[in-house]
Amino acid sequence: MAAICASRAGARVTLCEQNEKLGKKIYITGKGRCNLTNTAEWEAFFGEVVSNPKFLYSAFAGMDNFAVMELVEGLGCPLKEERGGRVFPVSDHASDVIAALRRGLEQAGVEVRLHTAVKKIVTGEADAAGLRHVTGVRLSTGEFLQADAVILCTGGLSYPTTGSTGDGLRFARELGHTITPLRPSLVAFRCKEPWCADLMGLSLKNVSLKMIDGDLSCSASHELSYGKKQILYQGFGELLFTHFGVSGPLILSASAYYGRRKTENIAIILDFKPALTPEQLDKRLLREFEEHHAKQVKNILPALLPAKMVPVFERHMPLYRDKTCAEVTREERTHLRNLLKNFHLIVTGTGGYEEAVITQGGISVKEVDPKTMQPRLLPGLYFAGELLDLDALTGGYNLQIAWSTGALAGRSAAK
Ligand SMILES: Cc1cc2nc3c(=O)[nH]c(=O)nc-3n(C[C@H](O)[C@H](O)[C@H](O)COP(=O)(O)OP(=O)(O)OC[C@H]3O[C@@H](n4cnc5c(N)ncnc54)[C@H](O)[C@@H]3O)c2cc1C
Repeated sequence: MAAICASRAGARVTLCEQNEKLGKKIYITGKGRCNLTNTAEWEAFFGEVVSNPKFLYSAFAGMDNFAVMELVEGLGCPLKEERGGRVFPVSDHASDVIAALRRGLEQAGVEVRLHTAVKKIVTGEADAAGLRHVTGVRLSTGEFLQADAVILCTGGLSYPTTGSTGDGLRFARELGHTITPLRPSLVAFRCKEPWCADLMGLSLKNVSLKMIDGDLSCSASHELSYGKKQILYQGFGELLFTHFGVSGPLILSASAYYGRRKTENIAIILDFKPALTPEQLDKRLLREFEEHHAKQVKNILPALLPAKMVPVFERHMPLYRDKTCAEVTREERTHLRNLLKNFHLIVTGTGGYEEAVITQGGISVKEVDPKTMQPRLLPGLYFAGELLDLDALTGGYNLQIAWSTGALAGRSAAK
């Protein structure tokens, strides 16, 4: 996007890509379908951006979601909108988005150099104001490529096999930029509870989740207490158990808020019956217990939970699981109700960069002009995309960040 926009604005552009082909990461986005943007309106859009949304205003104004759609469709890739405003190519093939961008590069006359890794950003002597101007890049072959402007858009650290190995972050650091703490985001959680492995593959569709920072106290009736300030994230959606913990769309969203404050003692609280208030659930349990008064409590669990979860719940109710429904006390019924509405797991960490959709953190946006994408320290250099300290939730927002900042960097560099 940066190369297309710079070239359309009149610059002579060379694109250096270390891989053997373009858009390796785009190819795997949206499970191979490329959710390239979202039709959300301005306010809703920025509500999905987790880090530094305000920094994006100018970039988004210059190339917003609808402008990206027009550009990609204009390059021969028809698009469609799906649930939640997510935009995909009609063909459901991410390769068609790459092909459209490749056509854009050809039409704009961009010289594309594949197998071409940049090893260093080269700067000249400091000028009278003490500023060093960028003069070009040094390639891994040793060749020096002279340039009046260089746009660095080498991505974050996620899925390094696609080529996003963090080179740009290293270059920026060497040039004196601040890199805010980096961590994998939109990624699965590792949990302390070993039984998660027994549930591997189990997907729960309508779960409500709270992520809590700090200590949780749990009463004998499994009532949890924590302060409002301890809530790092709350959401509703689909959750998937994995060998090491939990994943799925709900967890990926929660992970964007993990580690932003503190990484010790993080718990997630799951509500398996979010449509029912505690009182309504209590009534439902009472009805169930009355109807099946001679049955053991553990034998009514399948009516309340997916079969795979039953043994896990049984382990949490050792004092009354074998009792008949008629024998269960009111306190025990409350305990079961609280288990269903406040089931908690301890998060011990997240998956690594090799499985994280994006990298949180990056070049500090405080050192970059949001109107040009130019760092304040280095004239001639521009940044775009995931290497900046910008990130969003899933839904096409992260690619839109790359398109918007890329377009602005391209146009500014050409100027
Ligand atoms: C599995 C997965 C699914 C995703 N799905 C979606 C989705 O559906 N929607 C969405 O909005 N976002 C999605 N994302 C996130 C999105 O892909 C990224 O945020 C986006 O690609 C970032 O773009 P970028 O141009 O900044 O960096 P990248 O796409 O990482 O591109 C950086 C490029 O720079 C090249 N490079 C790196 N170093 C050098 C060097 N030294 N010399 C030359 N070239 C170099 C790399 O080879 C790479 O091609 C997904 C990410 C993953 C991993």
